[in-house]
Amino acid sequence: MQRLPGVSISLYLEEIAAWLWPPRCAACDALGETPFCSGCAETLVPTPAGCPLCGAPADEASLPLLRPRRCLHCRERAPPFSAALAPYLHGGALSEGIHRLKYEGREELARPLAVLFEACAPPSAEVLVPLPLHPSRLRERGFDQASLLAQEAGRRFKLPVERLLIRLRPTRPQVGLDRPARERNVQHAFASRGRVLGRRICLIDDVMTTGATAAAATEALLRAGAARVEVRTLARAP
Ligand SMILES: [Zn+2]
Ligand SMILES: [Zn+2]
Repeated sequence: MQRLPGVSISLYLEEIAAWLWPPRCAACDALGETPFCSGCAETLVPTPAGCPLCGAPADEASLPLLRPRRCLHCRERAPPFSAALAPYLHGGALSEGIHRLKYEGREELARPLAVLFEACAPPSAEVLVPLPLHPSRLRERGFDQASLLAQEAGRRFKLPVERLLIRLRPTRPQVGLDRPARERNVQHAFASRGRVLGRRICLIDDVMTTGATAAAATEALLRAGAARVEVRTLARAP
């Protein structure tokens, strides 16, 4: 390929990619709009204000009454992370997009979906860390969606991505488990590796429900001396 002065190869590559893979809706594949077509975008529900620690949406009517505004769970026992933010509630086109990314092998959706992270405040962190799958699940799936999302979030937030966590054992899916069972399921499931000491870290994952998995991962990082851990997910369970 002949280079024109002042035009970088990456720009060419991006143009070629746009031609090969034109923008499509992440939920219904409608051409031309990304991350979602206008019909699908209407199903997005921005996460309402809620608990400043775990991000659990609060009933709006009760917001002024909550002092401090921490949710019941965080008042009983604060989570180890400093904040957990997600731009939208899990549901509608967003859950469809995440489902396609995770279970239908649609790796290319990580890029358009990661655009949604911009609807949250940028993390006050120096490094992004994806919540890892266990190697056995990674082999099954062939790719790690949190890793793909972290790469794309890193491009947007201009932060490096480092795999500072490993999953020590495969855990059964959290779906259908109550909060205590979720906590037991992921307890001691993570260990840190690499340079963690004194660093401000932002964990990246697709969906947060009770925050049990993010809490277990955060504890592993704090044990290794991380200064602060916060969490960003694409979606938050309502
Ligand atoms: Zn659509
Ligand atoms: Zn909370």
